[in-house]
This record gives sequence, C-alpha cells and structure tokens, in this order.
Amino acid sequence: MIKPTNKPTFIPKMYCSFFGHDYQVTKKVTYHIKEYTCSHCKKQLTTNSNGYLIELTPKFKEINTILERIHTSRVERLKKKTLASSIY
Ligand SMILES: [Zn+2]
Repeated sequence: MIKPTNKPTFIPKMYCSFFGHDYQVTKKVTYHIKEYTCSHCKKQLTTNSNGYLIELTPKFKEINTILERIHTSRVERLKKKTLASSIY
C-alpha cells in the first residue's frame, strides 16, 4: 500500500498570516541575488539590486534570467583564466 507522504495541508495562506512566510532559496541568480519561494503559499520573492526583498514579478524574473546568464558566463571565464594561469 502506498502511504501518502505529503504533510498535512493547512490552508496555506492562513498559515502564513499566522506564522509568517517560510521562504526558501529556490534559485541563486548571482552571488548577491537569489530567488525565494514560500514553502506554504508558493509566493515568490527576489533580491533587487539594492539588496531588498521584493515580490518576484514576471519583469524581475526576466531581469534575473539575464543577470544569471551574465553571471554564469563571467564565472566560466574566470574558471578558464585560473586554469590557464595554473598551466603557465
Ligand atoms: Zn507564504
């Protein structure tokens, strides 16, 4: 028999209004910018350029995608650089 593994489901939004949101990092965009999702109501937040937490709107999702791409290519380039300098 398969046992349901899901935790008992509260009414998520009610839970959050009582206990506050329980945000967990769902994505690291750059070293400083992360995306968070509330494990109860699935509300999403992101860090903006000033370091404040703001609601993750489609616009910010788009910005984060671009930032992530820039960040990844920068990290990749750094990796190649250190690799090259360790050879010579
Ligand atoms: Zn919540």
